[in-house]
Amino acid sequence: MPSTLSERDLKVIWHPYTRQKDMPPALPLVRGEGALLFDENGKAYIDATSSWWVNIHGHAHPYIAESIYRQALQLEHVIFAGYTHEPAVRLAERLLPLLPGSPGRIFYSDNGSTAVEVSLKMAIQYWWNRGVRRRRLLAFRHSYHGDTFGAMSVSERGVFTVAFQDYLFEVAFIDTPTAVNLDALQDQIRAHGPETAAFIYEPLLQGAGGMRMYEAAHLDVLLETCRSEGILCIADEVMTGFGRTGKLFASEYTEHKPDIVCLSKGITGGTMALGVTACSDAVYQAFVDDDKLKTLFHGHSFTANPITCAAALASLDLLEDPACADRRQRIHRQHLAFAERLRAIPLATNVRVLGTVLAFDVATGAGYLDNVGPLIARYSIERGIMLRPQGSNVYVLPPYCITEEQLEAIYGCIEGALGELKTR
Ligand SMILES: *Cc1c(COP(=O)(O)O)cnc(C)c1O
Repeated sequence: MPSTLSERDLKVIWHPYTRQKDMPPALPLVRGEGALLFDENGKAYIDATSSWWVNIHGHAHPYIAESIYRQALQLEHVIFAGYTHEPAVRLAERLLPLLPGSPGRIFYSDNGSTAVEVSLKMAIQYWWNRGVRRRRLLAFRHSYHGDTFGAMSVSERGVFTVAFQDYLFEVAFIDTPTAVNLDALQDQIRAHGPETAAFIYEPLLQGAGGMRMYEAAHLDVLLETCRSEGILCIADEVMTGFGRTGKLFASEYTEHKPDIVCLSKGITGGTMALGVTACSDAVYQAFVDDDKLKTLFHGHSFTANPITCAAALASLDLLEDPACADRRQRIHRQHLAFAERLRAIPLATNVRVLGTVLAFDVATGAGYLDNVGPLIARYSIERGIMLRPQGSNVYVLPPYCITEEQLEAIYGCIEGALGELKTR
C-alpha cells in the first residue's frame, strides 16, 4: 500500500503539462501564507512564479478566504441564464470602468482558455450577425492563448499542439513587431484587411511563448492599422491583467484600445477559477436583434459562480489599495537591479524586465524541451525556491506581497544555479 501523499498521487493522478513516463513524484504542499508554501514537514518554499501566474496577493489570504466563506453560506451557485445575483453584477460594475477601452459588457466563463474561446466566438459571430463575410483570424507567432481547440488554433503551433494539428482551424500568423519589421507587418495586415475578422494578441508580453516582450509603441501601430481596416482587436490579458506588467492592464500602455478583453489568472487573486470576456458596446449591439439566431449560444454550468465572483471582488479590494501598487513598484525596482547583475553573467542572455516580470534565457541554443529548465528547477526546489523555467527561459513572476528578502533569495538561487551550470 502506498503511504505518502506523493506515492498515492503517483497511482491515481495525471498531472498537467507533465510527461508521464518516469514522472517524478509531485511535491505535496499542505499550507500557504504570503509568498510561501509549506510541505508536510513544515519546510517552506518561496512561490517565485505565483503558482502558474495566478496568485497576486499571497496564499490563503484571510480577506479573500473570508469573502469566499461568507458567500458560500449565503448563495453558493445558481443558473446564470435568466437569473442574477449581487456578486456577478457588482464585479461587472467594478471591472468595466477599470478596463482599457471602456467596454460595455462582461461575459463570464471559467478560465483563460474559455475567456479566449468566448472572445473568438463573439468576434466571428459579430461579423456573421452583420451579414459580412470576414473569416480570417490573425495572431502573433509565439503566442499562447490556451488549451481548448479554438485557443490552440490561435496559438503558436509547436510541441503543445503538434498532435492536434489536423483539427485546428486556419489562422494567419505574423511576427511580433520590431522597429525593423513594422512596415512589413502593416502591409501584411492591410493585404487581407477586408477579409480579416479579428486580431488576437497578448499585449507587450507573450507568456507561455517564452516571456517574450515587445514594445507598446509598435503594438500601437499595428492596432491602429487593424482599426483602420475594421478588424476587431482582442487583447488576451489573461496573464498581463491585474497589475502584472506595472499598469493595471497592459493595454493601458497603448493609445489604441481593444474591442474585446480576455481576463482570468489574477482575477480572483489566484484562489478560484474565473474567466471574463469584456466587449465594447459596438460588439454587443450586433447580438441585440429580433432574429434569434443572432444570440451568442454559449455558456458554462458554473458561469458567474457567486463564490468565485466574491473572491474576485475581494481581490479587487486588495489590488486597489495603494499599498499594492507600492509593492509592485518595489518588485520592479528590485528586478531592474537584479537584471544588471544578470547582464554581467555570460550564461544569462536577453535579460528583460516588464513590471513585476523578470526573464532571461540561458545560452544553450535549445528550446522548450531543453533540459537546463528541469536542472534549474531541481536546483532551486532543493533550496526552497519554486521556479518553473520554460526550457531555457527562466523567469521570476512573484506574488505582489513577496518581501524584499524573499525576492533576494530567489535571485541568489538563480545566480547559484547559473554558477553550477557553468561548471557542468
Ligand atoms: C494561461 C493563459 C491562457 C489560458 O488560461 P487557462 O486558465 O490556463 O485556461 C490564455 N491566455 C494567456 C495569455 C495565458 O497566459
